Amino acid sequence: MKQFIQLIVFSLLCFSALQVHAQDLHRKNGDLPCLNKNFNLVVHIAVDSLNRDPIVAEAFVNKMLIETSEYFSPICVSFTACEIQIIENNYSYANLQDSPISVEERVEKMEVLFSKERRINLFIVDSIQNVDCGIGQFEGITTRDDANMVIELFNCPDLKDSQNLAHQIGHLFGLYDTFNDNADLELVDGSNCQTAGDFICDTPADPYGKMIPVPSEPGVFLVGNYESNCEFIFNGQDENGEYWQPDMGNIMSAYPCKCGFTRQQYFKMVEVYNNSEFKNY
Ligand SMILES: [Zn+2]
Repeated sequence: MKQFIQLIVFSLLCFSALQVHAQDLHRKNGDLPCLNKNFNLVVHIAVDSLNRDPIVAEAFVNKMLIETSEYFSPICVSFTACEIQIIENNYSYANLQDSPISVEERVEKMEVLFSKERRINLFIVDSIQNVDCGIGQFEGITTRDDANMVIELFNCPDLKDSQNLAHQIGHLFGLYDTFNDNADLELVDGSNCQTAGDFICDTPADPYGKMIPVPSEPGVFLVGNYESNCEFIFNGQDENGEYWQPDMGNIMSAYPCKCGFTRQQYFKMVEVYNNSEFKNY
């Protein structure tokens, strides 16, 4: 019952805060499974290069985790910090640069140095060069030592850090971005939803960042984007001549209008977790 009330309150907040053209965000969740699980994170905080102070305080972390947990309450999952570690000895982790080694190597090094096995590790930095918002290891929750996430406090258009973190947790639990760059573009009618886009069928096709050819003008492309105020206005059309209407409120989108997950996204996260090693820890 408590979960149900929380859900209604959160849904109302979510709905009133954003005039999202809601598809199937988490409001319709009557039959969702309940994992009844709190994850105790190890949180690593970078220090600034000037005073070598932690870039955020413990209170910031705890508040963010409470807010992030609300997005997962429909499946009875929450996140708390059981351990907060300050990366004291190396002040270059606040702003990860792409030289002299690549940012991928820098991030990997950071994770190898500080991550704890069998735990979800969250790194909080100011920025990573050429990376927006952060990194969530895809299906990291299925691994022993790769359940790692990094969030950037800058370089991210999201309104809230908790939304950015919820997005990275989505990756950790096996969700792709709704615009998934590594798969074919989903059609507006959703007919290829199982093999294109994010492979989830109740998230509408999302052309974010995609080069969309204009049929009447060979060689001309439109880049999938949006107008401000969370309104999607884009003249590109899919190969059936239909206009996209992505769900800008989806946590796994790249739009700064995040509000919730869909029912099938919740099912996917639960399935990935239930098949993971983590379940036994
Ligand atoms: Zn992402």
